[in-house]
Amino acid sequence: MWIISSPAAVEVSVAHTDVIVLGAGIVGICCAAHLAKRGLSVALVDRAGAGEATSYGNTGIITGETLLPPAFPDWRELLRIGLKRSPQVNYHLGSLPRLAPWLAAFAAASRPARLIETARVMRPLFARAVAEHEALAAEAGAERYLNRGGWLKLYRTDAAFVAQVIELELAASYGLGAVPLDRDGALSLEPALAGVFRRAVHWTGAVSVSNPLALTRAYAARLAALGTVALSGDARTLHQANGRWRVETSSGPLDAGDVLLALGPWTSDVLEPLGVRLPLAVKRGYHRHFRPRGNAMLSRPVLDADNGYCLAPMEQGIRLTTGVEFAARDAPPTPVQFARLLPAARQLFPLDEPVEANPWLGARPCFPDSRPVIGRAPRQRSLWLAFGHAHWGLTLGPPTGRLIAELVTGATPFCDPQPYAAERFTR
Ligand SMILES: Cc1cc2nc3c(=O)[nH]c(=O)nc-3n(C[C@H](O)[C@H](O)[C@H](O)COP(=O)(O)OP(=O)(O)OC[C@H]3O[C@@H](n4cnc5c(N)ncnc54)[C@H](O)[C@@H]3O)c2cc1C
Repeated sequence: MWIISSPAAVEVSVAHTDVIVLGAGIVGICCAAHLAKRGLSVALVDRAGAGEATSYGNTGIITGETLLPPAFPDWRELLRIGLKRSPQVNYHLGSLPRLAPWLAAFAAASRPARLIETARVMRPLFARAVAEHEALAAEAGAERYLNRGGWLKLYRTDAAFVAQVIELELAASYGLGAVPLDRDGALSLEPALAGVFRRAVHWTGAVSVSNPLALTRAYAARLAALGTVALSGDARTLHQANGRWRVETSSGPLDAGDVLLALGPWTSDVLEPLGVRLPLAVKRGYHRHFRPRGNAMLSRPVLDADNGYCLAPMEQGIRLTTGVEFAARDAPPTPVQFARLLPAARQLFPLDEPVEANPWLGARPCFPDSRPVIGRAPRQRSLWLAFGHAHWGLTLGPPTGRLIAELVTGATPFCDPQPYAAERFTR
């Protein structure tokens, strides 16, 4: 419920709401939806349109069976990366001194035992991802964007396949759907692929999205029906006024008892001035759409594991998404990975001309332990955080929304929130 107060002592009228959610990416929108469903009045504030930043350009895979996070590369791959020959990873030399502590922490978190521990503590969130998306999509009338065909990981060498057998074993122990296939088995699922790979794994439980922006906008449109108000404003105006949080919006100042930061890679811009420093870095990634040649089509996203890119069927064409670029968040785009991986991609699938003049660039918000931060901000009672979802923000938006809403309202959380607490970096 919106209450506008303009007492005589106050010059400008101030709107009040229970919770301000800053950031209308997939994470903020899902949090707003779950908060509103619990009866709170919610205002969603962004400086741009819903889902137009990082959430616009992803590969569209809702991967509830995700287990092991990406790991720090071995020395052979490191050498290729260093020589700028890797199709998977690019870097800006000038960004490395600043990134060094983060990279060291990432390397430490990539020890096998730590990766398996990450898989364990992230399981409750991933396990709910598909069901939570399906529920939101049904409410938003957006089911047409969801394809329940899973996704396919391709391995060009036996060595690459063997390297991920541990993940298959882990999947079996959790009862997840991962079906190893030979070349013919994979080609029967995706006949337009060329048989340039040896092995494949079909992760059957994943859902893919044919237009991530449209899905996010549909979730945002549903918010209006839940009574949430969307406003334009700059989150960096957040400050305390009369013991409450206040943000300046284009409709005037807005107050709330609780505020949630869901600003993806920009969250630190607001958090650090409030005295909370967390080790967030970005793994930048690009996409570009291509027209398929002739009638060639894909039924599901496909990962070329040896070359670290994905091809995903989207409404706009075949979306080719790249691996990782380590660079400052706001540095100009350097989409050099396309030249390194396009020959392999064209060998695998008949890609024709690109649809857009230039590739899209996004920045995955990443903590070195590959876990998001979900929960209360350190030393701040009514400041909440939901960011750092790295490679899986689309997947994890809805379960994050549920968890945040349970924490804010004091309900029993559906899982132990401790592994996602910001305090793991500040203790
Ligand atoms: C190439 C690529 C492929 C990916 N593939 C997948 C995939 O297949 N599956 C998956 O699950 N995930 C994938 N991801 C990851 C996923 O896209 C992200 O984790 C997710 O989009 C992050 O969402 P978010 O809401 O946290 O951030 P964002 O979508 O970036 O939202 C943050 C919002 O904050 C707003 N904002 C920022 N600063 C301010 C300010 N000062 N004032 C007001 N508003 C502000 C922005 O405008 C934006 O709307 C991929 C990412 C990339 C780059």
